[in-house]
Amino acid sequence: MHLDTNTLLFVMWLNVTMMSAALWLGVGRSVRSGLKAWNASLLIQMVGWALFIAGMRPLNKWLIVLSIGLLCGSLSAMYVTVQRFTHRPVSWAYVWGAPVLAAATHAMVFDDFATRVAHINLIMCAQMLWLAWRLLGPGQYAGGCRWRWLAGSSFLLSGLFVLGRALLVLIAPERYPRFDEDHWLSVVGLLVNNGSLTVGTLGFLLAHRDEAEQELKRMATTDALTGLHNRHWLEERGADHLSLARRYDQPLTVIMMDLDYFKGINDTHGHVIGDRVLQAFAQRLREVGRDADLIARYGGEEFCVLLPLSAPEAALELDQRLRQVIHDELPDELGFAVTYSAGVAQLARNLLTLSELFACADRALYQAKHAGRNRTVLAATLMP
Ligand code: GH3
Ligand code: MG
Ligand code: MG
Repeated sequence: MHLDTNTLLFVMWLNVTMMSAALWLGVGRSVRSGLKAWNASLLIQMVGWALFIAGMRPLNKWLIVLSIGLLCGSLSAMYVTVQRFTHRPVSWAYVWGAPVLAAATHAMVFDDFATRVAHINLIMCAQMLWLAWRLLGPGQYAGGCRWRWLAGSSFLLSGLFVLGRALLVLIAPERYPRFDEDHWLSVVGLLVNNGSLTVGTLGFLLAHRDEAEQELKRMATTDALTGLHNRHWLEERGADHLSLARRYDQPLTVIMMDLDYFKGINDTHGHVIGDRVLQAFAQRLREVGRDADLIARYGGEEFCVLLPLSAPEAALELDQRLRQVIHDELPDELGFAVTYSAGVAQLARNLLTLSELFACADRALYQAKHAGRNRTVLAATLMP
């Protein structure tokens, strides 16, 4: 099989062009910023390669210098992609500075073939290996890790290959092939570049999917108004804690809270203020809760905390702390006082499921309401 450089170069260019067009059309405006930056890197690369090819025949220094700036600009956009997907800040000085500096220094060394080739290959190698390190090196990233392996290894492979080229031209410039010569080095280089672009695109598409999946999951388990978890989340996580508590014979307690006369607050002050009350209450609840507590907005103005490995005393302490801050802080913040009623229940032999435990706390809560509100009632359950 004969693989000639010109055809491969054209195929690579076509691949970049088609992938950037497909990304543009396929994910369009809804695309998140990480994938947008990758799309931009492909577009810049498409123009960069076109100018590079045009500048090689006949050799045109300024077209080549411009194409070097663009190819480095494409790497800058790849850097933005990586930073976005790994949730790190972007240095815009680097994004714009690196291509300008690369093009300017390339113009200075242009007249010497070996220096010129080593220069651009070393610059690209440094950027590619750095991006590979960002993806494959240690770090805490949300989401899956497969995309990082795919994208990172494509940068690593390209970076190492480009390093090899730089070393070859420095050690034996006479053996370094001309641009369109059908030399194995050019053929392998183009194949590596082509493959890396495809695998990199696949990697970042996976990253995009992981991010979207996480966002959907977050939305499905979070209450948008208060930022607390929702009932669905509490029931799912609570079921795990219930089975653990049963299995290891450990206590598990729940406290159910309901704001008093909340309908009246809405009617008197309006729904916007009502919402603000819910947010202020949720914030205080979050502050007084411990890390291990499972805190959720259970319904409209009902909140619930599940306390793993805890006896009712822990819930009563939380309740006391909460009553204190609500009493001390909310009147100043809202302009009126807010109270709540609560019911506490602990896991017992007669409460077999999570809903039975919650229903028990709910009954205690309604006893608190009937007893005049602004109080907490501990449910009478069989001993654990
Ligand atoms: P009680 O002391 O017996 O609990 O009386 P209440 O008025 O608090 O209870 P009720 O169930 O009669 O009213 C609850 C109100 O909460 C009715 C509903 O419009 C309001 N509500 C539910 N969700 C929201 C919300 O997200 N924002 C606002 N502003 N109001 C809400
Ligand atoms: Mg209610
Ligand atoms: Mg209420």
